[in-house]
Amino acid sequence: MIIEELNEELELDKRTYLPFILKTNCKCYNKELIRNLSTDYLSYPTVNSEQTIHFYCEECDVSIKEKVKFTVKLEQI
Ligand SMILES: [Zn+2]
Repeated sequence: MIIEELNEELELDKRTYLPFILKTNCKCYNKELIRNLSTDYLSYPTVNSEQTIHFYCEECDVSIKEKVKFTVKLEQI
């Protein structure tokens, strides 16, 4: 079998759950902020495209943005 990858953007579902946990730190008290994408869905994320993930720090009422790029891996088993 040959797998040919098209490097095209693809919009996913309104509620897309993904098997990732993202962590970042807020500058306030170096508080760790967590987004569990397996329970906290993303709306219409796009594959092969830049995506902004928002984190919210309750301690200082600040929104933190991190950029990611989703890719899909397909392999023969
Ligand atoms: Zn903070």
